[in-house]
Amino acid sequence: MTPSIDRLLHRIDAKRDEVVALTQDLVRIPTINPPGDAYEACAHLIGERLGRRGFAVEYVRALGAPGDSDSHPRTNVVARWQAPKPGECVHFNSHIDVVEAGPGWTFEPFGGQVAHGRVYGRGTCDMKGGLASSIIACEALIESGLMLSGALEISGTVDEESGGFAGVGYLAERGYFSQPRVHHVIIPEPLGVDRICLGHRGVWWGEVETRGRIAHGSMPFLGDSAINHMSAFIHLLETQLQPRLQGRRTAEPVEPPGARVSTLNINSIHGGQVEQRYSHDERGWPTGDLPAPVGAHLCKAVLDRRFIAEENLEAVKQEIVDMLEELKRTRPGFDYGIRDIMSFVPTATPKDAPVVDATARAIARVLGREPRYIASPGTYDQKHIVRSGQLRDCIAYGPGILDLAHQPDEYVGIQELVDSAKIMALAALDLTGPRRA
Ligand SMILES: [Zn+2]
Repeated sequence: MTPSIDRLLHRIDAKRDEVVALTQDLVRIPTINPPGDAYEACAHLIGERLGRRGFAVEYVRALGAPGDSDSHPRTNVVARWQAPKPGECVHFNSHIDVVEAGPGWTFEPFGGQVAHGRVYGRGTCDMKGGLASSIIACEALIESGLMLSGALEISGTVDEESGGFAGVGYLAERGYFSQPRVHHVIIPEPLGVDRICLGHRGVWWGEVETRGRIAHGSMPFLGDSAINHMSAFIHLLETQLQPRLQGRRTAEPVEPPGARVSTLNINSIHGGQVEQRYSHDERGWPTGDLPAPVGAHLCKAVLDRRFIAEENLEAVKQEIVDMLEELKRTRPGFDYGIRDIMSFVPTATPKDAPVVDATARAIARVLGREPRYIASPGTYDQKHIVRSGQLRDCIAYGPGILDLAHQPDEYVGIQELVDSAKIMALAALDLTGPRRA
């Protein structure tokens, strides 16, 4: 290791308390989504800190995007530092929103308490710890004076937990994640300090409706129940489609391995009368809503189909249409509708891409072991960067244990915060420096 690189790594070791304090400060702002609380405060904490260190800071409110309102503004922050000479730009993107705390905590969810060498709190792992590591990495790199060319960017973006449309989706459509502005993107999601996440499976969300004919509930034979028709469709999904999906395996290293096949989840089902609340008094008389006797003329189900790189979106949809058509041929009275809600195709950055290579070398240097390559079962903001930004040199890499995300007593290890900051700094230096042979 060269002396100057050694000094950079020592400089980051010396910032151990600082990365903990920054993680705590971020966790203490409860940016809960939904509804999208305190985004402005969190964006300003990041922007003001980086502004003091020479970054050009921009706040981008996603006006008109889903969820944006004056009471809950969707405010993103993007900060850029330019080295003396021009060159390529490395962008670290973190989402600032967290899910609700939920029950079961033994630590204060928004307290940022330190215990057992960890910082506890909602968002420590997913992903304010990763955000703090990326900030410390960039600050140490700038202070070291080693970065002579290129640019560093850090963004804190909103709404990743609800699809990212007002966050990375909004920015990517406006060129914030495209060349010539940005060349390499690292998303510090909690994939583990020695793992590089190359991409994710695809997703198709769709709504299927079955149609029947309304009738009096005491004479259902005079009508035709849409719920019964839906149940026939779900029976086919369970007995025909799901076994077929179990047999389709991907060559991508999706973690956990149970997600290396195609999957289907029935997200919701609604049929007949709207949901009501029934109750009784002590005599047994109804005191709440009362059902009206009608047969269901409509039933709707939302499907969440995750597909692998070896499948394509059109075939994924066609397979479901084929089953509905089969029912139409064989089941008297069966009628249906189907519509898309949203979809994203699978994405995978090649293993020999510059950002993968630079991060892998940094992991080997800091941890003394080879990285593991993985892919994610669910999508994250990489989908917007690839689709709208047309930028393929993108990975997720950051501290924390993925399984702890969204759980009670979520935490991030302090040593992991420090190690991943070193890895991010080395990767950024490598990617902005003179091209390697
Ligand atoms: Zn996350």
